[in-house]
Amino acid sequence: MSVSDDRLVRHVAACQLPTPFGVFTLHGFEEVGGPREHVALSLGEVGAGEVPVLIRLHSECLTGDALFSLRCDCGFQLEAALEAIAREGRGAVLYLRQEGRGIGLINKIRAYKLQDGGADTVEANEQLGFPADMRDFRLVRDMLAELGIARVRVMTNNPRKVETLEKIGIEVVERVPLEVGRNPHNDRYLSTKMAKLGHMLSG
Ligand SMILES: [Zn+2]
Repeated sequence: MSVSDDRLVRHVAACQLPTPFGVFTLHGFEEVGGPREHVALSLGEVGAGEVPVLIRLHSECLTGDALFSLRCDCGFQLEAALEAIAREGRGAVLYLRQEGRGIGLINKIRAYKLQDGGADTVEANEQLGFPADMRDFRLVRDMLAELGIARVRVMTNNPRKVETLEKIGIEVVERVPLEVGRNPHNDRYLSTKMAKLGHMLSG
């Protein structure tokens, strides 16, 4: 087997992962020459056939995904995506460990503090010296290749994710909106994502 390639991540191991939504397969990936580990949850035969696969690219949000935060919509979106995949019986969530749109957990807490003082999510990142969005979706190319996925329906409100997928050679058949979890605590955050980051949300 060839070891000389330009992959950013490699598939290391997979196991069953029972969840309230269904029994997924959990795939572990490690970055080649990097410290981060990523996972994908798949259900059904994602690597087979012509029918596009329902997917979500979900960037890690410890506060939203695991700590029930209402400051964003991440946890709600993750749950809705897993539910939708279970309903279809086929699909995958790529869970990318790039916390806080890539700035890391501690910097996200710093950004939240600035937001407590009145900044919006984009201004806060910029005040800390970061671009509004530092996520790198190239690793998605390798993860989808490992899973055998080439044609997708992607669950997202972010048109940039559709562009990103197309740029790495994935055929996006449909963008499936994922509007869940709006509440008084994240209303301004979601409006900023719509106004400044191009997210497509209904008001
Ligand atoms: Zn979040």
